[in-house]
Amino acid sequence: MLRIDGSKGEGGGQVLRTSLALSLVTGTPFTMTNIRAGRAKPGLLRQHLTAVKAAEAVGAAEVSGAELGSRELTFQPRALAAGNYHFAVGTAGSATLVLQTVLPALLAAKEPSTLMLEGGTHNPAAPPFDFLARAYLPLLRRMGADVTATLDRPGFFPAGGGKFRVDVRPQALKPLSLMSRGRVLRREAKAVVSMIPFDVAKRELETVGSLLELRPDQLRPEELKRGQGPGNALVVEVESEHVTEVFTGFGERGKRAETVAEEVAAEVKRYLNAEVPVGEHLCDQLLLLCALARGGEFRTLPLDGHALTQLETMAHFLDVKVDVGEVDRDVRDVVVRG
Ligand code: AMP
Repeated sequence: MLRIDGSKGEGGGQVLRTSLALSLVTGTPFTMTNIRAGRAKPGLLRQHLTAVKAAEAVGAAEVSGAELGSRELTFQPRALAAGNYHFAVGTAGSATLVLQTVLPALLAAKEPSTLMLEGGTHNPAAPPFDFLARAYLPLLRRMGADVTATLDRPGFFPAGGGKFRVDVRPQALKPLSLMSRGRVLRREAKAVVSMIPFDVAKRELETVGSLLELRPDQLRPEELKRGQGPGNALVVEVESEHVTEVFTGFGERGKRAETVAEEVAAEVKRYLNAEVPVGEHLCDQLLLLCALARGGEFRTLPLDGHALTQLETMAHFLDVKVDVGEVDRDVRDVVVRG
């Protein structure tokens, strides 16, 4: 039985989700202590508990400690089962993170699966649905996976209520090589508001448009009619020859629309200036996919806390070697070998 200290590195939910994902794929049982000890509300929140329950269902696992607030968990998978699954977080907790917990296992299963996921689809500190659909899944498909995601309705913090469907056909992943971005083909900023004044979307787009020198036809305000509670997201998509990246900022009570836009614009500029194909968030998620494929290489920004934590967590389950080379102050080459 592996023993993993959940307080290591970021000490967040990622240590748990990656452990669940790799436990399912490798059949390795583990016990985790100090779950999310690095976060303000430690232990299993609804989102993490849903991820545990999802992994339990997909892996016919024996589990102890799967309760709200729990800081210790034992997880022992028995057999992978494809199927039609419905996982509902029950709060605005991220449903995309629940998906990422079980997706590697469903790709390794014997039959296709369909998942209905409910909860938050556009959450701060988690991959928003737009990122999932336009940055993450296209790369996964390039690695050979047959996975599609369809948004039924978005869900924002704190109301939740989002829903999307994912279809998975099992495939072995092939190594990915993503060393250059190529020419930037398209840039677009979308500001979504749900039960928030439309003016917020307009101000975000005005600011992000002027900072990133976008034309009016590259700015898309969107007011959700069927929105699930109040919410606001600013999404900038950069499509290049070899990759599409998605950057997101979220409106919060007391935070000016201009500030939301300035933060996203800074993230986009950093990515564009470094001329790398893979941004910070995509990096930690791609590391896991390359490890599952037993190989891959990509050029990215300096690794952040999530990426370093991912490396540490992966090493418990998989015998992969990861080299990170410094190309420039803001550029790193990552090589994963199985
Ligand atoms: P944790 O904070 O440990 O629960 O992990 C959060 C995960 O969400 C990491 O894999 C992050 O890379 C990912 N993430 C956070 N914010 C974004 C974002 N704006 N776009 C894409 N992924 C994100």
